Amino acid sequence: MGSDNTATVTGLDSTVIAERGDANTAYLQGDRGSVTATVGDRNDLHVIGADDTAVIHHASNATIRIEGDANTATNEDSSHSTLDVTGDTNTAEASFGESNTAIITGAGSTASTGKGSFNTATITANNNATDESAPRAAANKFSAVLLYPFKGLEGEHNLPTRDKFAKEEVGEGRGLGVRSLTAIPSGDLVACISGIVTHQRGLHTLQINQHAHLLDLDFVGFLTHSCSPNVRVCLSEFKVWALADIGEGDVLTMDYASTEDVLFRQFECCCTSPNCRGWITGRRETLNLAGQDFMRRRESLHTL
Ligand SMILES: [Zn+2]
Repeated sequence: MGSDNTATVTGLDSTVIAERGDANTAYLQGDRGSVTATVGDRNDLHVIGADDTAVIHHASNATIRIEGDANTATNEDSSHSTLDVTGDTNTAEASFGESNTAIITGAGSTASTGKGSFNTATITANNNATDESAPRAAANKFSAVLLYPFKGLEGEHNLPTRDKFAKEEVGEGRGLGVRSLTAIPSGDLVACISGIVTHQRGLHTLQINQHAHLLDLDFVGFLTHSCSPNVRVCLSEFKVWALADIGEGDVLTMDYASTEDVLFRQFECCCTSPNCRGWITGRRETLNLAGQDFMRRRESLHTL
């Protein structure tokens, strides 16, 4: 029940309990042991051995580190705690708490975040146990890493994540774009979008209304233009929808004139679609001088 205590136990069938104290450290080296931190703050439970159990109960900022096999680490009703398990066939569970992290390195192990919120479960397994453990990590909606760097969005559904989209060079002089890493059927939601709302129109903004523009340098602000786009960006519901079947590795394309009254910069299109307009403007502006010149040259080529 005190604070700043250290308990070091070496042996079998041992028990260490840190109850109602703060900043305690328990080292347990041996098999079939048990370490428990209850209602404390900043406790560190370190277990090396097999068949051990470590439990954090109603505590906060606690850490459980387990090195060994067939161990169980449980974080129950705690917050900001970490379970770090290295070994095989271990179980790490953060249940009913908030902002907890469970990390397992090993095979045949299970990490679960239970019913808490903002918890993270990460499983690293580099052998044939991956198939067994990975789906549980993938099924956790908080385990995917967002493209967006903003804090506080972790609980939002369907924001673009790095396992589904890549912002990268898309080739043919088109610069940076966004590639889908998975297949998306026509009509499906591609992603919800976010960003900074600004009064200024820019190269990577999308028009929300006449006075507001969405600046998103991580996802939708880098969609490539096409006159036959495969996505539609809806800026009243902040969602991107698939207009066509999108294959794995396809570049996401939108029609800039579908959202912009006036473009930050008009440009010659190289989308190569049969209905390409040639020179791209916003939906409420006329061709600038370069555009007029381009269209005159294009028409004269057609009449030759
Ligand atoms: Zn085009």
